[in-house]
Amino acid sequence: MERFDLIVEGGQVLLPGDGLTEAAVAVREGRIAALLPPGTTADATERLDATGRVVLPGAIDAHIHLGASITVPSEAEEVGTETRSAVVGGVTTVLGYLMSAEPYEELFEPAIKLFEQASYTDFGVHFVIGTPHQLEMLPRYVNELGVSSFKFFMNFRGTEGAYLGLPGNDDGFLWDLLRAAAPLGAMVNPHPENIEVVWRTREAAQANPPADPLQAWGASRPPVVEAEAISRAAMFAAESGTSLFSVHTSSRLALEAIADRRNRQSGIYVETCPHYLVLDEESGVGTYGKVNPPLRTAEDREALWTALERGEIDVVGSDHVPRHRSAKEKDIWSASAGFPGMETLLPVMLSEGHLRRGIPLERIVEVVSTNPAKIFGMYPRKGRIAPGADADLAIVDLDAPRTLSNDTVVSAAAYTPYSGLEVGVSVTDTVVGGRVVVRGGEVVAGPAGGYVHRAASGATAVEATRTHSAGRSA
Ligand SMILES: [Zn+2]
Repeated sequence: MERFDLIVEGGQVLLPGDGLTEAAVAVREGRIAALLPPGTTADATERLDATGRVVLPGAIDAHIHLGASITVPSEAEEVGTETRSAVVGGVTTVLGYLMSAEPYEELFEPAIKLFEQASYTDFGVHFVIGTPHQLEMLPRYVNELGVSSFKFFMNFRGTEGAYLGLPGNDDGFLWDLLRAAAPLGAMVNPHPENIEVVWRTREAAQANPPADPLQAWGASRPPVVEAEAISRAAMFAAESGTSLFSVHTSSRLALEAIADRRNRQSGIYVETCPHYLVLDEESGVGTYGKVNPPLRTAEDREALWTALERGEIDVVGSDHVPRHRSAKEKDIWSASAGFPGMETLLPVMLSEGHLRRGIPLERIVEVVSTNPAKIFGMYPRKGRIAPGADADLAIVDLDAPRTLSNDTVVSAAAYTPYSGLEVGVSVTDTVVGGRVVVRGGEVVAGPAGGYVHRAASGATAVEATRTHSAGRSA
């Protein structure tokens, strides 16, 4: 009899194209070795009973920030605690944003060593590009370091990026970055906000602030500054044929601007975050809900759900920020922006999207696993349950009502903006690279994540997956 390292049995397995299927997932050497029909006898070193639950490809959180400074993690602990929060929520791979004005060819190795030492999930990184030297090194970043997606803060004019140690920039630099990325098969992820207009709207909002702090914050950075900026970036990208990833899309107006550009050019990918789908400026979460771009209105939330259902949103990432809750307990203008989200990403999307709104399980899995794998150059190794793929699995009980609470948060941030939210879903077990890391809700193994080298992102990466599926269809 064939012997496997691990068998996950008894559950309904989400298979690409086939939906939920009764099967056992057999694992050998970190990869899925076979899908066994029910009743097959097979020998394994370890077994995991998934009876009554669904087995999904592990979530891929393509948008996270780590470290006390949220620029580059400097302590193993910073990586360990946060990626532990990820696996508890069924996330098996993370892509972290490294943000620095220093040369990444010097930062990369020590940062990756920290991850190798402490990460419970597999991991890759994006670089924020802000200096002429970094721009010059782009070919090396892609070809040698396997980093093929680059963030650009359109709002960092003058000293706006100084709090992260990043220099000021302009549209000319974005233009150069787009032109440098295209021939490398790399993608640019702009943070789209027109800061020159924000300087005006912020002044007006501060002079005459709405009573609710989140409404004041929203008024200071209205949807038009996001919509205009993403439209501008897309027009520039069209000229160089560069793929663009619209991070944390928050508003109906931005969706409309993107839809308009998508009618004219290919290679635009769209991300939103769970908080724009679940919370709005009237959710009453106070300064804990301060984030950039701001939480919007109920109408914007509905527009985002509609877009997600229609396939107009490709990825849902958490924009995880692990700063401690004390950084939020200030007035709205001085509270820090962002909040933790890795451990809630999958449960909240399954509960709010699938259970509450009836969006098919397949669609939710697409936006939290399959699409990020494809768009960021990790498919077919990740993002699907099929022989040959990494054995990254999230085993989920879809009938496990509970209330999210600050008391159970694993992240060092020690709070969640979803505290009090009723969810119907619980991640019971998580498998990363064939190792059972979470069993029965408890972390049972140490960190052993590995680096994911990503040769291409955007249209180049997605194109490569099409060739792959064509070759495999049978
Ligand atoms: Zn972010």
